[in-house]
Amino acid sequence: MEKTRYIAVIPGVGFSHLAPILQFSKQLVELHPHFHVTCIVPSLGSLPSASKAILETLPPNYINTILLPPVNPNDQLSQEDIPVLVKIHLTMSHSMPSIHKALKSLTSKATLVAMVVDSFAFEALDFAQEFNMLSYVYFPAAATTLSTLLHLPKLDEEISCEYRDFSDPIKVPGCVPFRGGDFYGPAQDRTSPVYKFLLQRVNRIRHVDGIFINSFLEMETSPIRALKDEDKGYPPVYPVGPIVQSGDDDAKGLDLECLTWLDKQQVGSVLYVSFGSGGTLSQEQITELAFGLELSNHKFLWVLRAPNNATSDAAYLGAQNDVDPLKFLPSGFLERTKEKGMVVPSWAPQIQVLSHSSVGGFLTHCGWNSILESVLKGVPFITWPLFAEQKMNAVLLSEGLKVGVRPRVSENGLVERVEIVDVIKCLMEGEEGAKMRERMNELKEDATNALKEDGSSTKALSQLPLYWKILA
Ligand code: UDP
Repeated sequence: MEKTRYIAVIPGVGFSHLAPILQFSKQLVELHPHFHVTCIVPSLGSLPSASKAILETLPPNYINTILLPPVNPNDQLSQEDIPVLVKIHLTMSHSMPSIHKALKSLTSKATLVAMVVDSFAFEALDFAQEFNMLSYVYFPAAATTLSTLLHLPKLDEEISCEYRDFSDPIKVPGCVPFRGGDFYGPAQDRTSPVYKFLLQRVNRIRHVDGIFINSFLEMETSPIRALKDEDKGYPPVYPVGPIVQSGDDDAKGLDLECLTWLDKQQVGSVLYVSFGSGGTLSQEQITELAFGLELSNHKFLWVLRAPNNATSDAAYLGAQNDVDPLKFLPSGFLERTKEKGMVVPSWAPQIQVLSHSSVGGFLTHCGWNSILESVLKGVPFITWPLFAEQKMNAVLLSEGLKVGVRPRVSENGLVERVEIVDVIKCLMEGEEGAKMRERMNELKEDATNALKEDGSSTKALSQLPLYWKILA
């Protein structure tokens, strides 16, 4: 009987830094049943229900989980004025002693071949040497983002002002050039602790044994080639995507009324509107969006979250989910649009929604998971980025791949209702929209092929564990 090899996997905090690495782990053990994954899960407070539901889907014979004690039992990190990224970094830093303890206990019972960590868990990479493991990062975002991050120390030397004030386009190897304002969100204030964390993170992940990236060669050919350019001296990069949840896990325990509503709509007629697991809009922006949807006269399915006027990532770590968002809609909106649209409070079974034939467009905040989920279903975009690397993703979709239309933000910082109507019409009924849909169908085919047995991503995911087997 073949000997079992053990891998330690360490997710980051936040649904979109937990779910993708777990799905990656599932695919790894499916392809290589002689590996056993132990997943060491840090958390800020109690886990949101969507994260718990994902953990319950893991095959227990191949993947076991160690839930670390939440680092914030007394809610000290819950104040709204602490930026989400700082909370994430502090959570990860405070979890390091428990991660170390868990690894020590594991290595006393079994030989661990490798550790694979989310990029937020970069501090855990230091334990790889102590426990004699290879170290890998699972990067759940675009190759464009990874290329930007690995190039950041160079940009930091070359550009002295804030990136948003830089007047020339910012050039990153392999990527569509970015306007300063579209550059990576967490790098936009170079005096902030977030920027310091970022440089620390980048310097650390430059020295791992390899980086798995949730993208695929055919979608990001040029940034992936740039990452693999030997002259750059980066670690080996393995594009293994698109890795997304199966829709069944996604829908467990959720209100599925919106799917019944979709059943009654015409093929390709509905615009799905969602800002990810935690994106929020201001009250004023919710009002503009509501009127834009109403005036467009198109069918819509809108996942609505309560507003936050200070920040757009307010609900990212699970906050605010108990507030009823429907009361923030303009007066009479639900009644006036009842034949046209449906509003779902806070959370929808997104993968099932995107799989539904009635959905013909996706107004998205450009989170990478949402993008990949939509690519796999061939649904083109209205790109409405909010935070993190989302503006760069919007550039990739609308200017690079040309599968999305990006609304203009007015000088008052709002996307106004007239603009919203224009982009909806462009995507849902215009010639440009039809072309985007065509290109999206090609991308869908590429994505499906990348995941086939002989596809580029499956090959990348197959090769490396063979090397781990030799080592163990
Ligand atoms: N999601 C969902 N239902 C929702 C909102 C989000 O299932 O109502 C899932 C979505 O399918 C995706 C993830 O949450 O897998 C969001 O990840 P993404 O990277 O798009 O954005 P983030 O949450 O990191 O901003």
